[in-house]
Amino acid sequence: MKKVRTQNTGSGRKNSVKSAMLPVYLCSQKPIHSLSTSLLQAFMIHSIDQLDLAGKRVLVRVDFNVPQDDTGAITDDIRIRESLPTIQKIVSSGGRAILMSHLGRPKGKVNAKYSLKPAAERLAELLGKPVKMAPDCIGDEVGKMVALMEDGDVVLLENVRFYAQEEENEDDFSRKLAALGDVYVNDAFGSAHRAHASTHGVTKYITKRAAGYLMQKELKYLGDAVAQPVRPFTAILGGSKISGKIDVITNLLDKCDTILVGGGMIFTFFKAMGKEIGDSLVEEDKIELAKEIIANAKAKNINFMLPTDAIVADAFSNDAARKTVSIDGIEKGWRGLDIGAESIAAFSKAITTSKTVVWNGPMGVFEMSNFAAGTKAVADALAEATKHGAVTIVGGGDSAAAIEQFGLVKAVSHVSTGGGASLEFLEGKELPGVAALDS
Ligand code: AMP
Repeated sequence: MKKVRTQNTGSGRKNSVKSAMLPVYLCSQKPIHSLSTSLLQAFMIHSIDQLDLAGKRVLVRVDFNVPQDDTGAITDDIRIRESLPTIQKIVSSGGRAILMSHLGRPKGKVNAKYSLKPAAERLAELLGKPVKMAPDCIGDEVGKMVALMEDGDVVLLENVRFYAQEEENEDDFSRKLAALGDVYVNDAFGSAHRAHASTHGVTKYITKRAAGYLMQKELKYLGDAVAQPVRPFTAILGGSKISGKIDVITNLLDKCDTILVGGGMIFTFFKAMGKEIGDSLVEEDKIELAKEIIANAKAKNINFMLPTDAIVADAFSNDAARKTVSIDGIEKGWRGLDIGAESIAAFSKAITTSKTVVWNGPMGVFEMSNFAAGTKAVADALAEATKHGAVTIVGGGDSAAAIEQFGLVKAVSHVSTGGGASLEFLEGKELPGVAALDS
């Protein structure tokens, strides 16, 4: 394994797994900045458990942005299922749940293709009780529907993105949404990186607000992993490009003991080292940046590991001729599409001997079976580390899709529901939807 620097700076730093798992920032007494200075800052976020829900109209931002097939049938309902604990809590506490979400990109126009009706039907099945579908998300008819609700009822508002004002975070629209609730709960981590009316603007008009259980779970895992990791702390970064992950790499260089790099982005690093990379993916304009990252990792004594071998192919196709070569042996006409067996062994060892692991981005073109081995091995190593007590977190997006493809979702500590949001969280950015819950 190519170690730009081999030193575990974190050994000896002690944290108990237990304390790292406690969501202490989600209580009224303790500001979350006591756990994380760079990410969560001086927010005081309440849990839904601290709200008086009985008889109240509880306006909940959920993330029902679910994938559908051509007929409109939901192909993956994980986001709906993940929101159940929060909705069930409201129902069992005698609250009236008024749910709002976006679906797809209707660009401010009513479009039946993006109606949340299928989500209402699926939610009703999962809850085992009726869910009334509102014809709109604001307006007289919706107002009347909400006024007629009884304790324990559930209403799903129509797609908030049927209004351009949602993404504009427009004040009047925010006020109209807010008028539907006495209290506000945000359970949509996947949308928390956007300052929209339903995630941000509404909080100006509802003083009693809290994080739902899914939001809490995401903040607990991603927040604690970065703010107070049990060490050794290893991050695995992959995917196609350095440019998409540069802020994550920079932020994690200050926090991790080991960073493992795979995916298409490795070839920009290898080019920066003067190696022949054949026809592999490269970002010519990021070569200098790659050099800086390597130098920074060295200066910070981070164990920055790049693969030592790769599976190369003579075309970008699952049926292409392929072979395993050393990183120094990539020939012209060949491109790297996965990490090789030697790298898999070294990466697996680093992962299974860690106590906190964060993974974002595949090791190769995992969508093609002949180039999925590296990504599968990382997923297996995460599962193994979890068995030995490590906290293992998979960022959303492609890594979440990969771990699902390998049937290992339940074998890791947490799979984030938010691709963009989890990435921004790992970049150390403030999420507007989280910041707005501050009270
Ligand atoms: P990203 O969206 O940047 O996280 O990249 C994810 C994509 O990177 C996946 O669709 C993978 O197929 C792709 N990928 C991973 N490794 C490689 C590689 N060696 N060459 C080209 N694409 C890759």
